[in-house]
Amino acid sequence: MSLPVVSMEDAELFSKNKSLDISKPLKPLSIEEFEKLAKISNDLWWSRLVISVRGFTVNHFKNEDERLFSTDDAFIIIHKVFVEKKHEFSPKEFVEFLNLITSLPNLDLILTRLESGSSDSNPFTISTTSVAFTSVFGQPNPATYHIANLQKHAYYTFTNILGILLSRWSAENNEAITTKRKGIRFDKDPEWQPDDRVVLFEEFYQGNRTWVLTDFDRHIISFWRPKGTHVIFGDRHIEKKKRSGFNLCDYCGMLEQIPDQFKLMERYRLCSSECLQALFSSINSK
Ligand SMILES: [Zn+2]
Repeated sequence: MSLPVVSMEDAELFSKNKSLDISKPLKPLSIEEFEKLAKISNDLWWSRLVISVRGFTVNHFKNEDERLFSTDDAFIIIHKVFVEKKHEFSPKEFVEFLNLITSLPNLDLILTRLESGSSDSNPFTISTTSVAFTSVFGQPNPATYHIANLQKHAYYTFTNILGILLSRWSAENNEAITTKRKGIRFDKDPEWQPDDRVVLFEEFYQGNRTWVLTDFDRHIISFWRPKGTHVIFGDRHIEKKKRSGFNLCDYCGMLEQIPDQFKLMERYRLCSSECLQALFSSINSK
């Protein structure tokens, strides 16, 4: 049994539409199938899934700073739950919460209204949904409603994509003859080359296209240190960059935006004074 194939070229997963549609209530994910997948999947598969869904989502909010940062916070939590297993809720519990949240009819509208002060059919206080909403977003109060309204696209999109993958996967496992889906096995393949949408790029002036590093990217780089940029962009892509003169930070593994951007200190190539300090304290403690 192999892991579901994920490709950012797959338009059913990553739609090419200009805006993210979250109006349709989602069909709850099968907990049984989720647990089967959880048993055979690995951290790299989950991490790349979270990275691609997050990249896809934030690219819709390039010009909305507050939504972008809150979306990043949500995906850091998702990463902690599904990859790092360092969260108060287990992945299964979290999926159960996401099921309740994303299957709520009119979620989009209800959260918009809640933020603007209307408390009709408040899912944070209705008994069937209150545990899920307060566990994911926080106690019912205006600050929480504001955050929930900012983060709704993140949780909805993640659940939607995971749901599609899960139902395809269980259908394939139940078929006598497996129809092989074309795509890259990003749990192991060095060819994993996500497209532009996997991180945020900004063109400050023509020809100067720069990766905009936000909290989520820093989180991934520090979790996988020093292989974070390999996880995000794939081994093949990083090798290509290195051959054309780009360096990685010797401490955190960050990739240069332009060749020789990182200063050579002693014999180490380092992206920041924080990395310099961290490197030397790790050497001294040896
Ligand atoms: Zn660094």
